[in-house]
Amino acid sequence: MPSNARAGSLKDPDVADLFCKDDPEKLFADLREIGHGSFGAVYFARDVHSNEVVAIKKMSFSGKQTNEKWQDIIKEVKFLQKLRHPNTIEYRGCYLREHTAWLVMEYCLGSASDLLEVHKKPLQEVEIAAITHGALLGLAYLHSHNMIHRDVKAGNILLTEPGQVKLGDFGSASIVAPANSFVGTPYWMAPEVILAMDEGQYDGKVDVWSLGITSIELAERKPPLFNMNAMSALYHIAQNESPVLQSNHWSDSFRNFVDSCLQKIPQDRPTSDVLLNHRFLSRERPITVVMDLIARTKDAVRELDNLQYRKMKKILFQETQANGPGPEGGDEEEEEAQYLMRSGTVNSMESSQSVPSMSISASSQSSSVNSLADASDDSEGEMAMMQEGEHTVASNSSIIHRPTNQDNIYDDPYQPEMEQVQAPSAGRRRAYYRNRDHFATIRTASLVTRQIQEHEQGSALREQMSGYKRMRRQHQKQLMGLENKLKAEMDEHQLKLDKELEAQRNGFTSEADKILKKHQAIVEKETKAALTEEKKFQQHILGQQKKELTSLLENQKRQYRARKDQLKEHLL
Ligand code: ADP
Ligand code: MG
Repeated sequence: MPSNARAGSLKDPDVADLFCKDDPEKLFADLREIGHGSFGAVYFARDVHSNEVVAIKKMSFSGKQTNEKWQDIIKEVKFLQKLRHPNTIEYRGCYLREHTAWLVMEYCLGSASDLLEVHKKPLQEVEIAAITHGALLGLAYLHSHNMIHRDVKAGNILLTEPGQVKLGDFGSASIVAPANSFVGTPYWMAPEVILAMDEGQYDGKVDVWSLGITSIELAERKPPLFNMNAMSALYHIAQNESPVLQSNHWSDSFRNFVDSCLQKIPQDRPTSDVLLNHRFLSRERPITVVMDLIARTKDAVRELDNLQYRKMKKILFQETQANGPGPEGGDEEEEEAQYLMRSGTVNSMESSQSVPSMSISASSQSSSVNSLADASDDSEGEMAMMQEGEHTVASNSSIIHRPTNQDNIYDDPYQPEMEQVQAPSAGRRRAYYRNRDHFATIRTASLVTRQIQEHEQGSALREQMSGYKRMRRQHQKQLMGLENKLKAEMDEHQLKLDKELEAQRNGFTSEADKILKKHQAIVEKETKAALTEEKKFQQHILGQQKKELTSLLENQKRQYRARKDQLKEHLL
């Protein structure tokens, strides 16, 4: 798929195949917002044909950085499509409507982070073991297929009605291992992810680290270093010793499990597969652990929502009074009004800390935001006030909704009981209360509302993070620029050197030629001289020989003549 394909374009058949062609508005009804990230919102919904309950993550690709958002959607859908495991969220299909992708999944009651949010206290060790075990089974499955989740935290571990534990949120996942991008949520990030730059690489073991941090989160309500700002935490994780469980009331096997997950050097850290055999997970525990925990949480949510409902009603009643016969603000009302402000049900400027996940490749808009309250969490007050003896009405559980086109309370036959409370300043302000007994959840209405508000207000941390991401991107760009410049300089140098060497070689050759020629000339000259000498010598020898021969001949001639004379005398 070309990476520059236009947002929403289905020209590429591979991309077109990812989306169902039907109109999702006609297929799904009763949408209720249940979660909110920076990508958009997650809804509870009902399939109109099968009547089955589903979750829909609506991801918009309009506005700023549409192409990046579109690429992120394609990535997440492609990833979800591949998953087939009891411990990973089940994907049902994806639809397109008005620059928004509707990603349909199985419905879960909420996340492990919601459990902490509702109970305001750590989970029990068996509960932590059960949740961690489920998440690890999902991770081992991903890792065996060379995939990395990269954003493991309580907020992304989802729970179903029958008590299954499922990994969710594959918006940061990597389809290949090893990988090297700076992706995840700061406090849960493995040191090697923080340190990984271009050549740095990591694998599935980063999820094992994040699972270790998640275990601490479940045991202490917050991940380690959560009181620091994200930048300092990143520095701390990379530079310092691994965190440990704070309290010593935990069992040795739990401590050892956390220590194994949090081995700083990846080679010393067990793989997800090996970790599955750890005694902390294999220890016997009741099979109903998660189911009991869910039941307990649902009850608490119902009570908290009722309390919220009553407060809201009261405040609206006060408004009626204020606009009618005149203000009548006693201490109690004042306190409750403050409570409402704090709990984020009405326009509160105060919000709990949100921790965005990060992806270098993605736009900051599309990075997800998980809501995790900080230590001074406002809704701490919810429990406190209940303990003060507030009466709750269990049968009148409600959730506050903002009106949307799907969310029209006037023509919703699915609502068995509803109540519309209208502020006296009619037309200016409305609050919608709905009975939600028909839909199970472990998220309180105030949490959902707070997330929406946080998203609308925009988080300073998200800004900080996207600033940091920008900075890292810039640094990487500068680094690459410098590298390229250096490489170019080196190439130039090399070329120059080669040229010089060649020139020298050429110079050397001509010099050698000259010497050779000179040498040849000398040799020739010497040879010539030697030849002349030789010739002279030969001539000299020849002269000698000639002389010797002549004298020999003269001698013989003389002897011959003497003999002739002798013979002549004899004859006479
Ligand atoms: P983000 O990238 O913003 O973190 P998530 O996919 O994690 O997006 O979804 C945000 C929140 O929506 C989750 O923390 C969870 O509360 C809720 N959510 C997500 N998927 C589901 C689901 N399948 N069923 C129920 N709730 C879900
Ligand atoms: Mg998430």
